[in-house]
Amino acid sequence: MQLIDKLSILADAAKYDVSCASSGAPQRSSKGKAGVGSTGGMGICHSFTPDGRCVSLLKILLTNFCLYDCQYCVNRRSSDVPRARFTPEEVVMLTLDLYRRNCISGLFLSSGIIRSADYTMEQLVQVARLLREEHEFRGYIHLKTIPDADPALIEQAGRYADRLSVNIELPSDASLIRLAPEKTVGGIQRTMGAIRYQQQAVEGEARAPKFAPAGQSTQMIVGVDDSDDHSILRKSQTLYRQFRLKRVYYSAFSPIPHSPSTVPLAAPPLLREHRLYQADFLMRGYGFRAEELLDKPGNLALDIDPKLAWALEHREQFPVDVNRAEPALIARVPGIGVLTAQRIEQLRKQRKIRYDDLRRLRCALDKANPFIVTADYRPRQDSSESLRLRQQQAERPVQQMALW
Ligand code: SF4
Repeated sequence: MQLIDKLSILADAAKYDVSCASSGAPQRSSKGKAGVGSTGGMGICHSFTPDGRCVSLLKILLTNFCLYDCQYCVNRRSSDVPRARFTPEEVVMLTLDLYRRNCISGLFLSSGIIRSADYTMEQLVQVARLLREEHEFRGYIHLKTIPDADPALIEQAGRYADRLSVNIELPSDASLIRLAPEKTVGGIQRTMGAIRYQQQAVEGEARAPKFAPAGQSTQMIVGVDDSDDHSILRKSQTLYRQFRLKRVYYSAFSPIPHSPSTVPLAAPPLLREHRLYQADFLMRGYGFRAEELLDKPGNLALDIDPKLAWALEHREQFPVDVNRAEPALIARVPGIGVLTAQRIEQLRKQRKIRYDDLRRLRCALDKANPFIVTADYRPRQDSSESLRLRQQQAERPVQQMALW
């Protein structure tokens, strides 16, 4: 098989893995086709380095042959798709070639499982080793880590890669047993634990060799089982705490050709994935707990963003006097972000904050108005306000938050 044919199969097969940044971005082509700069095609994804730079990565599988039969996956053993396999040297050659042409800044490499977890992991590590040691490649490398691979291989992978990720796949253990019978929750979490262990071993050791400096991430599929957002967010919260993950990525299940009867025929609303990202952002950046965002089983509201939903549910905490309240509480006001809350805190050391100051600080006042008090402004107490805010947001096109 020609290299270009392998590339076409293995770049396409990698598109279902969203554990890098650009996969969740909408396609911009007005005609629904990929165009210049489109993020909708396959082969290239984007990620952020630890210093905040956005980099383009060649996103491919080493192979889409797989011993496993995960029901939600197009590459499962029983799937009738064209198969291909790169050698490690071919991946290295492609990466260097595209890098030299300035098309990419790095590599996102995943793989189906061939022969065994250890053998597959060895192949992935081999690619990273060749790039780093033989070609002195200094670009970004994200390696997918195979659950239950030997910790010694994980240790090597982390020495070469900037980021490692292990897919948790599903929020509930029962769903994983049902839909991915060859995978185990224990195996996935052991591998996450092995990465965390290595990270801790080098933390605070100035002279220690780096280990996956961009941290570890994971991916959870949404809408392939009956897990609700309540259990998804709680699972993410546990993973963030337990393994200090940098990111949990959410992937709305996309029905696959000839899918088995165990998975749904229709995709969940993309807006559900978006609301989960917003809620996740609030947990990571704003100190919200999963239980605050959804205190009972069910899904996040689709017609309203989770921060506004929380504020409307907790009217007793508002209005917040921006001249007195803790910055953490000010940041919980819809329309005011963490950075703006910090700027408010700085400014009020000099003088009383007035309504126009918030305008100058670029607060979204149409959202914030009912929830704030300033030196010269107090909202009217009106029970119709909640309804107005809900309607106002429902009528607006969904806004992209800075999620990544
Ligand atoms: S292990 Fe499962 S999810 Fe991964 S490639 Fe194989 S079938 Fe797909």
